[in-house]
This record gives sequence, C-alpha cells and structure tokens, in this order.
Amino acid sequence: MAAVESLASKRSIDSGGTKKLLIDGNWVSPSSGETFETRNPANNNLLGRIASGNARDIELAVGAARRAFEGPWSKFSPFERQRILLKFADLVEANFEDLCVLDTLDMGVPISLARSRKQRALGLIRFYAGLATTIHGDTIQNSIPGEFFTYTLKEPVGVVGAITPWNAPLTSTIWKLGPVLATGCTMVLKPAEQASLTPLRLGELLLEAGLPDGVVNIVTGYGETAGAALAGHMGVDKVAFTGSHFTGQKIIEAAKGNIKRVTLELGGKSPDIVFADADLDAAVPGAAMAVFMNSGQICSAGTRLLVERSIYDTFVGKVADYAKTLRVGDGLDPDTQIGPLVSAEQLARVKGYLAIGREEGAQALVGGDQLSGGAHADGFFVAPTVLAGVRNDMRVAQEEIFGPVLSAIAFDDFDEAARIANATSFGLGSGVWTRDVGKAHRMAKSIRAGTVWVNCYAAMDPAVPFGGYKMSGHGRESGTQHIDAYLETKSVIMKVA
Ligand code: ADP
Repeated sequence: MAAVESLASKRSIDSGGTKKLLIDGNWVSPSSGETFETRNPANNNLLGRIASGNARDIELAVGAARRAFEGPWSKFSPFERQRILLKFADLVEANFEDLCVLDTLDMGVPISLARSRKQRALGLIRFYAGLATTIHGDTIQNSIPGEFFTYTLKEPVGVVGAITPWNAPLTSTIWKLGPVLATGCTMVLKPAEQASLTPLRLGELLLEAGLPDGVVNIVTGYGETAGAALAGHMGVDKVAFTGSHFTGQKIIEAAKGNIKRVTLELGGKSPDIVFADADLDAAVPGAAMAVFMNSGQICSAGTRLLVERSIYDTFVGKVADYAKTLRVGDGLDPDTQIGPLVSAEQLARVKGYLAIGREEGAQALVGGDQLSGGAHADGFFVAPTVLAGVRNDMRVAQEEIFGPVLSAIAFDDFDEAARIANATSFGLGSGVWTRDVGKAHRMAKSIRAGTVWVNCYAAMDPAVPFGGYKMSGHGRESGTQHIDAYLETKSVIMKVA
C-alpha cells in the first residue's frame, strides 16, 4: 500500500504542492491566487492544494476555447480527431493504475472497483474515437417547385461548458471529453471540488496526446463561483452537467441568457424489484451491490428495494446478512469492498437521513450509523445499512441519500410493484429480478426510467444510452446518438435549375 501511495503523490501533486488551471494549453495559477485543500476521505490526510478558479479564470478559459474552436482545430479532419482520441486512450491505458489511485485517494472508491472500470473507461474513449468518423448529414428528397437539391450538414455546437461530479472522476470526465473531441467542439471543464486530481491528470495526458492549445481547458474551483460563472457565460454554447437535481435546476436558470443547449444527468431513487420467482442466490448480492457499490454514491443506485411480500422477510434478511460481510475501509487496501463517503458534508447528510429513517419508523436490520474508531477513526465511513419496513411515501424512499442505505419496501403483485416503482420524481435506473421472461419484458415496459437492468444491476456499455426520465435529467450519454447533443443541424436548400 505504501508503494501505491508514493506513486500517487508523485503524479497528483506538483513540486509546489498546488495543482494549477489548464488554460490555452498552459498550466496557470488562478487569478485570485486562492487555493483550497483536497483531502483523502479515508483518513482526512491532506493530499494537496487545488487552484480555486473564479469568473475571471472562466472568462480566460472560454476565450481560449472560442479561439481554439475557430482556429486550427476547426480544420482537423474526423480522422485527425480520431487519432488524438486513440492516442489519448493509449495514454489512459498506460497510466491506468495511477488514475485509479488518484480516484481512490481523492474520493475514496475502493481500488478494486476503480480497476474494474478499465474496460469501461478505455472502451468509452475508443467508442467516441470511432464515432468521430461516422458524423454525417442527409440528402433529402424535396417537393419544392422547380429543381432543388436539399441536404443537411452536421456541425459542432461550439464551446461546451462541462460540469462534473465527484463520484466517478475518471469515467465522468471521459464521458464529457469523448463527444466534445469526436465532434470538433471545444471545452471548459469544471470538475467537482471534492475530486479534481484525476481530471487534472487527464488534462496532462490530453496535452501529451497532441491536443491543440485551448481545445480542452480545466478550471478547478467551487460550484457557486467557477461552476456558476461557466453555466452563465454568454460565450458558452452548451452546458453538459452531471450532478444533483438541485444544481441541475440552477444550471437551467443560468443557461437561459443565450439559450444554451443543456444536457443534464441528475439524481435518482431507483427501484430494484425482486419477484418471488427470481434466482434468489443471484438476486441477494445483486440487490445489495446495486446500492452499496461506491458506498451508494452512484446516481443510478438501486436504493429502493421492492420485494414480493411472500419472500420479503427472508430476502431482506439475506441482503442484511450479505451487507454484514462487506469489508468497509480505506479504498487503497485491495481487500476493501466499501470505501468512505467523499466528505464530512456527505457523512453528515447520510447520518441525517438515517435519523429521519428512524423517526419515520424504518428499522435498520444492519448498519444504521457511522463507523468510527480503529481504522475508521479519521475517515467518513457509514456501515452498509438495510432499512426494513419502509413505505414508499417516507422520505428515505423518496429523497436521494447518496450513501450506503437501502430502503426495502414490500409489494403484493406486478401492478403494485410497477405503481410503487413509478411513484417517484426520478427515473434514472431500475432493476427487475425474475425467471419469467414475459414478466421481465412487461416490467421493463412499465417502468418510467432511462435504464432497466434485468437479473443484473449497473452493467453498462459505451454503445448503450444512459440517462434519465423525469427529474433525473434529459439527454443521453453513451450510445451513437450521444454526439447529436454536441452537433447542430444545418439545412442547405439549393436551387439548381
Ligand atoms: P453534490 O451536492 O453531490 O456535490 P452538485 O450537483 O452540487 O452535487 O455538484 C456537481 C457539480 O456541480 C460540481 O462540479 C459542483 O462544483 C457543481 N456546482 C455546484 N453548484 C453549482 C452552481 N450553482 N452552478 C454550477 N455548478 C455548480
């Protein structure tokens, strides 16, 4: 473990101990001179200091992105953009272990989980590299009197402001970079203040891959300053946001000045439905990890476990037994299955919901509190928690907790399961566990959510769209249509005779 720590510090902190901003191809100090600390949530150790960007830095970064958009980058052919993406993928592959360590140090993800995302991270970049050469308009038959030739051109939307969360720094940054570079847009990235180290390292790798100056700029800083300045900047054509629905609402408000294109990937309160006819040996760990993975800090986590009443007590008891076996600790330990929460604020928020759950009458079959003392003394750890006896109208069933807290609800039949599943403001993920294929298809059709996992949870692929219904956002990431949100359509109507 010590060897891994020293490798990480060599990569994540520069000689002065402060990470800078990436603007126009240069690493620069923030105009205010202000910095903030970034700490390891497993032990509260200081990892380094991060530049605190403000509106002035955003101004400079947007200016650089605009110049790059109108400059040589606009002449890059799809093949040339593809080549940069593929080179970047190779560099991410070569540095993958360091990037995993940075994710673990900065936001606590178990290193085993970070490593398991290798295919996903590299696959995403190479998938977008492939898409770069597939962009095309259409020729369209028309009925305009006379002789006309009509066709469409697809053109990059322009400067993209990308605002990302802390819960999966590597993959969420790649999710924003991929479509930007594939389509020929440029970008100002504002990473989450809790986890900026990985995005900054990706900035170094992009420069190494030969990306022209100003195509990707990174302004670290707080949401209310750097983030708000980016979302409201009149020189930004599109905002791509991932985060809470509260902030998503602010983004929509901030984006109205110049009618920015906006895509939002927001929160969820996803139902995971277990029928009595399911393969319960698979469903127990499946349902548990649907919520406990990444300490529940996943927007599509299956936090509402809906169980058919005939097996409710047995099944929920088994999930609680499984939760007891999970090893909670420092993510750098390869045996750790559940890491800390990202911050003291997040810990306070989750503990607040545990108290609310108790007041509402839910019973914690396992967990229910912070883990403190021993190896957990200085970190932000919460025991994996299974709340039984939950009704869907309780706050612990309606509000996103973003912690390792499962709310188990009983249902009597298919229709009631579908009704409860949809009785939420959100619609991001969902799960169905059954051996009856027809039932699985019918439930997949009944649930109003962007993804339905059947007899599995959280499996993803770059080619499969991901995104939300209702208050979980709009737009989709991944899938061949993702790049449409980064393209404008121009119609050309030409009189030819
Ligand atoms: P969380 O509450 O889980 O940290 P947020 O939605 O607040 O989730 O954070 C997601 C991203 O949004 C982060 O990069 C954060 O800095 C940014 N952010 C927060 N507030 C604002 C805001 N008012 N305007 C723009 N970005 C913001």
